[in-house]
Amino acid sequence: MAELLAALRQAVGQPNVLTRATHGDLSAWENDWRKRWPGHARAVVRPGNTEEVAAVVKACTQHGVALVPQGGNTGLVGGSGPDGTGTQVVLSLQRMHRVRGLDAANATLTVEAGCVLQAVQQAARDAGFLFPLSLAAEGSCTIGGNLATNAGGTQVLRFGNARDLCLGIEAVTASGEVVNLLSGLRKDNTGYDLRNLLVGSEGTLGIITAATLKLFPLPAAQLTAWVAVPSMAAAVSLLGTAQRLLGPALTGFEVMNAFSLSLVARHMPQLTQPLAAHADPWRVLLEVQDVESEAHAQARLEAVFEVAMANGCASDAAVAQSVAQSRHFWHLRESIPLAQAEEGTNIKHDISLPVSAIPAFVEATDAALAQAIEGVRLVNFGHLGDGNLHYNVQAPPGVSAAEFLAAQEAVANAIVYQAVAQHGGSISAEHGVGWLKRDELPHYKDATALAWMRQIKRALDPANLLNPGRVLRTD
Ligand SMILES: Cc1cc2nc3c(=O)[nH]c(=O)nc-3n(C[C@H](O)[C@H](O)[C@H](O)COP(=O)(O)OP(=O)(O)OC[C@H]3O[C@@H](n4cnc5c(N)ncnc54)[C@H](O)[C@@H]3O)c2cc1C
Repeated sequence: MAELLAALRQAVGQPNVLTRATHGDLSAWENDWRKRWPGHARAVVRPGNTEEVAAVVKACTQHGVALVPQGGNTGLVGGSGPDGTGTQVVLSLQRMHRVRGLDAANATLTVEAGCVLQAVQQAARDAGFLFPLSLAAEGSCTIGGNLATNAGGTQVLRFGNARDLCLGIEAVTASGEVVNLLSGLRKDNTGYDLRNLLVGSEGTLGIITAATLKLFPLPAAQLTAWVAVPSMAAAVSLLGTAQRLLGPALTGFEVMNAFSLSLVARHMPQLTQPLAAHADPWRVLLEVQDVESEAHAQARLEAVFEVAMANGCASDAAVAQSVAQSRHFWHLRESIPLAQAEEGTNIKHDISLPVSAIPAFVEATDAALAQAIEGVRLVNFGHLGDGNLHYNVQAPPGVSAAEFLAAQEAVANAIVYQAVAQHGGSISAEHGVGWLKRDELPHYKDATALAWMRQIKRALDPANLLNPGRVLRTD
């Protein structure tokens, strides 16, 4: 232990190796955002550049000590914190937040992995570009964490997920070598795509230290609408209409059930909700970006509402009249996870399905859960445009969250995941596998694909020191 700490201090400097003895409280790095998987770290190490990351990895490898890469620690599947043994080292990328360079003609931005997503968006905007990855945790999550989890967020239907926005990557391997694939190329067919192997690997194959990101032109106008819809089937039909009439101008399509918004009303009563009194049980938040003008965007949006109101897939709509109001609509949507957390720990399901299967899935699964768990409450919201629901199960009123999790988590998971499989979906849409879904994976993933994943893990991390036990069971 003393030898390892000395090597780590040599690698990153004394102030950047935090232990309980030197720093006292390490809980900010040891607890996850949901406070479901509290752990104990041997140390938290904060390298300042790629060479220091490589030196940390080499020191840990030499001493056979496991490393847990951590960005903003906002992940929701138990991937970013140490386990409870007190033996693992947390490698925090937060000090690596430099913008390395912008290539305006190539529309790319190269940043270090610890850059907070909001800062990346701002750096792009300052240069007259859009970096479209956007999610509620953007004020604290890092681009390294976004890539490691292949994050999705609110504009995937137009711009794709983190993977689609990444052209190049730099990483440190399990043996402490630096692999430089920092290209801004849109075409590069020189063998296996190692960048894509690292994206979504949740810190189990390498440590991402920098990335070259794809930028887009800033839109001339952006409109946000809040729409009352009578059913999930109507929401799917509205999506089809919007896609048909708006094409790539449709950049966001979120759905929320009444219960999820009632939690926001209860825990954040200061947030006024448009169409609050409307009886329809679903709301859609729809966003349009236009390359021409606001008037052009408005005319196109009105055309969508005309068709949607006529065919009954929308009942009423409020269009944000200012940037502040548009932000408010998004704030309401993004407050749902926070309101849920206030209500008590819940059973989260981040699932994806073919959009066409979603109404049938929701109807069947709502009914199955109501039958199995008396008084169950469903917080159902998500990125409908991507076929991604956050289909979360909240305890009945008066039942403690801990009691509910112990008694019902396995029951709820079995019902939801089996229904997902029956409807052709995935048990993890955008949050990843981590610890939360590791033991579910063998039931739902193709067996040969899983065997390949294990072989890749063994080949790239033979000593099993990079985020062991996440994604794949390795014991
Ligand atoms: C309120 C809220 C809303 C969210 N909304 C969305 C959403 O809309 N869409 C979505 O996709 N996700 C969402 N998330 C979860 C999302 O996965 C994370 O917010 C984000 O992508 C993780 O980034 P991070 O820097 O916090 O990573 P962390 O939480 O620190 O880490 C996540 C995983 O990545 C690994 N990792 C982190 N950095 C690196 C690195 N540099 N190299 C290798 N591995 C690394 C970790 O080991 C861990 O396995 C939300 C989370 C919250 C709290």
